Amino acid sequence: MRHQIQLLPWALFAAVVGGGCGPNDLDVPTVEVEGGEPDARRDVVVPIQRQGRASGLEVAAAGAFAPGGPPLRVYLNREGATLTGGSDDSSQNRSSIVNGRATIPRFRGTDATWNKIRDCVRDEFARFNVTVTDQRPASGPYVMAMFGGNGSELGYGRGIGGVAPIDPNDCTVIEGAVVYIFSDNLGINDWELNCEVGAHEVGHALSLDHELLPPDPMTYLAYNGLQTFQDQDARCGEYSARACVCRRPSQNTVKVLASKVGWRMGEPPPPPPPGSEPTVSIKSPADGAVLPAFSTIQIVVEATDNDGVSKVELLWKYNGAVFPCPGTYCTQSGSTYTYSLYVGSGERRFQVRATDRTGLVATTPERVIYLQDKNPGDVISIRVLEPMQGQQIRAGSMVKVTAEVTGSRPIAQVGMTWSGAWGSVTDSLVPEGGTRWGRTIHVSPNAPAGPRQITVFAQDVDGGRATAAPVVVHVTR
Ligand SMILES: [Zn+2]
Repeated sequence: MRHQIQLLPWALFAAVVGGGCGPNDLDVPTVEVEGGEPDARRDVVVPIQRQGRASGLEVAAAGAFAPGGPPLRVYLNREGATLTGGSDDSSQNRSSIVNGRATIPRFRGTDATWNKIRDCVRDEFARFNVTVTDQRPASGPYVMAMFGGNGSELGYGRGIGGVAPIDPNDCTVIEGAVVYIFSDNLGINDWELNCEVGAHEVGHALSLDHELLPPDPMTYLAYNGLQTFQDQDARCGEYSARACVCRRPSQNTVKVLASKVGWRMGEPPPPPPPGSEPTVSIKSPADGAVLPAFSTIQIVVEATDNDGVSKVELLWKYNGAVFPCPGTYCTQSGSTYTYSLYVGSGERRFQVRATDRTGLVATTPERVIYLQDKNPGDVISIRVLEPMQGQQIRAGSMVKVTAEVTGSRPIAQVGMTWSGAWGSVTDSLVPEGGTRWGRTIHVSPNAPAGPRQITVFAQDVDGGRATAAPVVVHVTR
């Protein structure tokens, strides 16, 4: 427990908070951060936090990316990009890892090294229904792997190799995920390590956990040779065994990937013959519309094409669901496609994609709507009382995190993530009476100087979630 990169904040809380003891009965251990030595293979895994709450329909449709369809596309980006924070959508340069705005510089290695990295990542996924390219696709969704930088662009210390989002609760494929490989830390000439960490970070977006199998890229353990996904049951963990995400009893990376994206089926289809793309537009609701939460909403789409429209799909960015039309939730009448979806609460972003009979595809611009709870008090408010923004913390000392958390429904769990120089640590806060929750962090004497982020988040008994703005503190020596 000296050093723990924790993937399962919500599952963990049940164990820590759910015991029914009062705060004084709990012997709450201090959270240890930044122990051990830096290791380029360490990375940060950020559980995706979906804003608002999902309806039953949305839960059932989540991660509709399923084997048997078109391949999952993975775009290896060496050009750099400026990204904004929000739910992952690589086609919009939007990333759940980013707070505000961040610019990742281009990959600084040579073309020859880059080509080796690209071909190697392609080989890693060659067995699966995945295409790997270094040309940005014209439209989403696709997983984007950013190669470049050293992590400081995202507020991390320089001791980690990468960062990726994961869905630790439902293990869905985050089809629009943006993942990061900090090539400047890994070595811009080390194509092998860049390739392994690339496979590793993309693996997280496809729900893979860390495991204790040295020849597999999902491990932190050293291996002499190129790591490739192993068709073998392995225990999960960083340096010692712990439970796997999503209650998997063990992890076989090949079987998980095959179940998530399917096996590769022959050659990719030839490029479509010249023709014109379909015309597709969203008639309603309007961009920015406010609609009632937990209600059935209608989405009306027009799609036409000279060669005939063969397929219309609603891309529900909230959870990666793809709703075909006609289908369970959609009817077609001529060129009008009408969806009826029972939705939850919070912000929703979506696009509609139309495919014509020759395979040409057109996608609408993204549209955002807001599903507002009928009960306007149904919110969670988090106020971080300590530490203060900009506070200095000496390496080797303790720092207390205290937050005041209120909600219209009872608060079930409160947690925090320390994003440090050598990875991130997520753990629970414990109730301290009233609306206060707290925990003491012990910063290792080995911790290098520099900024850190402390992010407090909370969940109510109905699954409503909220995340406070991060508090930036500075470790000094
Ligand atoms: Zn990892």
